[in-house]
Amino acid sequence: MRDVVVVGGGIAGLAAAWKLRDRDVVLLEADDRVGGRVRSERRGRYWVNWGGHVYDGNPASSTQWLLADTGVASRAVPGNLAGLSMNGKLLLSGRVETFPFRVPMAWRDRASLIRAGAKVRLGVARYGRLVKRRPGEDEATRQQRVYDFKNDTTFADYVGELTEDAEALFKPTVTRSSAEMHEISAGAGIGYFNLVWNLGAGLSHSIVGGPSTLTERIAAALGARVQLGAAVQEVVHRRNSVLVRYTQGGIDSEVEARCVVLATPAGVSSRIAVDLDADVRAALAQVRYGPFVSAAFLTDEAGPCPWDDTYAIATPKRSFNVVLNMSNNVHGYSPERLPGSSFMVFSPAGLARQLLEQDDETILKSYVDDLDQVLPGTASSLVEAQVARWPEGSVYSFPGRARLQPVLTRRDTRVLLAGDYLGTQYTETAVYTGLAAAGAAEDTLDAGRAAHPAPSRS
Ligand SMILES: Cc1cc2nc3c(=O)[nH]c(=O)nc-3n(C[C@H](O)[C@H](O)[C@H](O)COP(=O)(O)OP(=O)(O)OC[C@H]3O[C@@H](n4cnc5c(N)ncnc54)[C@H](O)[C@@H]3O)c2cc1C
Repeated sequence: MRDVVVVGGGIAGLAAAWKLRDRDVVLLEADDRVGGRVRSERRGRYWVNWGGHVYDGNPASSTQWLLADTGVASRAVPGNLAGLSMNGKLLLSGRVETFPFRVPMAWRDRASLIRAGAKVRLGVARYGRLVKRRPGEDEATRQQRVYDFKNDTTFADYVGELTEDAEALFKPTVTRSSAEMHEISAGAGIGYFNLVWNLGAGLSHSIVGGPSTLTERIAAALGARVQLGAAVQEVVHRRNSVLVRYTQGGIDSEVEARCVVLATPAGVSSRIAVDLDADVRAALAQVRYGPFVSAAFLTDEAGPCPWDDTYAIATPKRSFNVVLNMSNNVHGYSPERLPGSSFMVFSPAGLARQLLEQDDETILKSYVDDLDQVLPGTASSLVEAQVARWPEGSVYSFPGRARLQPVLTRRDTRVLLAGDYLGTQYTETAVYTGLAAAGAAEDTLDAGRAAHPAPSRS
């Protein structure tokens, strides 16, 4: 019997397996690569990226602990964090709050934006205070308070009616959560503005060499204990253990362990963990994800570009709603401007739903046309372009989500849940819950050993 089976090799499962590496642990991943929604590839000094791109820079975060423990470097996104391309104007610097006054639009639209913007700003100020941990408080209590914040209404109802251009400017920020304004709760929408407006304070770091540097480093350290192409079909309790049934290479297998860390997306976990309490399985099935379509682009221009210093450029009214300058982390730290760049674009929620019905070639055509209008000249220096599809791109909090939290975080079995859907901080939640599940598994293993010590050889 194994000590622990980790199911799912996304960043949550990998964090758990890393913490448990000195135990008898095996990780089963259905795909032919690790990382899940973290996916990048090296291209010389740059990297192309399709998934999670910015990571928690707070030295006290679980992400920073994991990066330090695995010896993977991250560094702050340099230069200007946010820009905007709208109505023919490209803004590459300055405070985000000034953008509505600097892009051409009718006064009616500007008035609508100012009204809604003031409301959101007040909400962000309140959110910024309530998100902070209070003295003596544990993470579960803090997280519940964040979910409870304005969880009875949608963001669309909270901001009220917007004119066309005002909505176009609001939309790229809120929908980057993967939900439309009428799907996401008001509190979560405000939380997303808090994240984007205060990028430097939250998700603010890039992983040097690309995000997959971290996931691949962990997988390499675990070696043969990471099994790829192993799709778990069922996780079921035995009296003092858990049985995991999976299929690999067309062959049905099973492995028994003292504990299981279940780090698959919530819907999968609900389906395969067949004897979890009915309310837990029901809560898992209610977690909502929205889709993303993303693409990575590599260019080979010889000299500097006006946008070299800007990281995330919002692009209302385009086929994608943000351009991310992945190479600004190389340019910003190099003494001279090296040739070439790497960009990522992505389309969330409703935009993604439309694109998911198209083939890659059609998607790339729209993307390249739009990219060239946002960053003129890019099309002529393109050397690589590749699309990725994420039908379950990211979790989002909807009205009523707060009520699921106590059920989802109840811990009374040998099957320990982990994943980004257990909190509001994306990769940071995934890493935090992976490490917490590993810690709980260790407690169970140690308690079992204390109750039944190994027989002495003498
Ligand atoms: C385009 C995009 C941009 C993003 N940007 C950011 C960002 O900038 N910052 C940020 O923090 N987050 C971002 N995110 C979200 C972030 O990537 C996720 O929150 C995080 O990677 C989730 O990790 P996870 O381990 O919980 O889940 P996943 O990465 O989904 O891992 C789950 C794993 O389980 C495996 N699996 C599924 N079913 C089975 C089965 N039956 N048996 C075995 N294995 C199975 C899957 O193949 C997968 O590898 C972004 C996501 C996308 C798609």
